[in-house]
Amino acid sequence: MQYLSTRGQAPAREFCDILLGGLAPDGGLYLPEAYPQVSRAELDAWRELPYHALALAVLSKFITDIPAGDLKTLVDRTYTAQTYRYCRPGRDAADITPLTTLEPGLHLLELSNGPTLAFKDMAMQLLGNLFEYVLEKRGETINILGATSGDTGSAAEYAMRGKHGVRVFMLSPHGKMSEFQRAQMYSLPDANIFNIAIRAMFDDCQDIVKAVSNDAAFKAKHRIGAVNSINWARVAAQIVYYFKGYFEATRSNDEEVAFAVPSGNFGNICAGHVARMMGLPIRRLVLATNENDVLDEFFRSGVYRPRATRETHVTSSPSMDISRASNFERFVFDLVGRDAAVVRELWAKVDRGDSFDLRGTPWHARLSEFRFVSGTSSHADRLATIRTAWEKYGTMIDPHTADGLKVALAYRELDEAGVPMVVLETAQPVKFAETIREALGREPTRPEALEGIEALPQRVEVMDADAAAVKAFIAART
Ligand SMILES: *Cc1c(COP(=O)(O)O)cnc(C)c1O
Repeated sequence: MQYLSTRGQAPAREFCDILLGGLAPDGGLYLPEAYPQVSRAELDAWRELPYHALALAVLSKFITDIPAGDLKTLVDRTYTAQTYRYCRPGRDAADITPLTTLEPGLHLLELSNGPTLAFKDMAMQLLGNLFEYVLEKRGETINILGATSGDTGSAAEYAMRGKHGVRVFMLSPHGKMSEFQRAQMYSLPDANIFNIAIRAMFDDCQDIVKAVSNDAAFKAKHRIGAVNSINWARVAAQIVYYFKGYFEATRSNDEEVAFAVPSGNFGNICAGHVARMMGLPIRRLVLATNENDVLDEFFRSGVYRPRATRETHVTSSPSMDISRASNFERFVFDLVGRDAAVVRELWAKVDRGDSFDLRGTPWHARLSEFRFVSGTSSHADRLATIRTAWEKYGTMIDPHTADGLKVALAYRELDEAGVPMVVLETAQPVKFAETIREALGREPTRPEALEGIEALPQRVEVMDADAAAVKAFIAART
């Protein structure tokens, strides 16, 4: 399988070659040259598979440059009941992504039972094993530099901890993450993990990462890499649970389902789009945003108006506080018939800070073929939905999942087909205790094994928002 850039001006590459890099050299994002198709016979056989075997079946279609036996070892090691053990009481951790039925035809797919209690573990854990494998083969090392407002950084650190050839330098805004998130990251004892708390906001952390990465000499000398959400391997790993969720929510492969996806960078729902392109019978992809509703506006109107980062609303579903969805370019590449020249033209505008408008173009007319619908959710909606889930369904959900459920319920009101709706649970409530207290007047439940992590010793370097200082910190440790 070869991968192409959405901007069409970079050479095609194999999976392992794009694994460690970020953007393609022409500024685009990598996608498979064609989406592998899943036959009816394959779907029938896959229906019976446990998660790790399903993951191998799906990923084998995308990863053709790792020997089959090695890939199986890596995938088996990633999707174990031990790693995804933080499931709700009564669920089987061996399911990896258990499905909870809220009411007939309405389900929650639990994707946040991994070490950091957010769905990002589903992909990042695989990335950790793939990185170690490829670096070892090539005799290389990498220093991962990232910025996090909470979920991504912790998922990256737990995926890379103790991995040979990998160090992680993670910037986070000092004092801005929840107490639980800080404890998760800063209590890691591993020598290859470095936490840097910046006395500034998340955007400033991101600016520092950009500044360091734009210094080509420094980047090359210190082998700086990233694990951000444009990484194709992360999208690929996320395709698997759409298949799993489909099989769990249906009895036969003649049925269709809808998925509701709390969205920020468009990574999670992009994987759903790819699953549908492969032939999974998905009737609707229901995209949910919070107050940062740029994507909702696009799917309603055909106008994409990304905002400057500084205009991002700070909300109570912070992992969706994104105004420029980095993976969206992948979808638009497919929407415009994979015409890279059109993508270049559209993103010339986006990269200048402008909008684009597809109204009146043939692509806008085609948009409905891609089966997306969208909606938004506000702070008040989030609180009300957390309450509904708790009172009506006896299930505690986190604020991001609440955005997904809110939009899913609104869509169900209008949908005449009545297909099963699967809401993706993207985090556990304990990560966002403040909002749970506000909604329910009680503390969120937390996995027993994580009782008291706030009291563990923490390792974090507090620094000013100064790229030169961050560079010096990295240089002294690599
Ligand atoms: C990252 C994240 C999201 C958004 O996912 P994208 O892939 O960026 O669209 C939603 N909810 C939670 C809890 C997250 O951590």
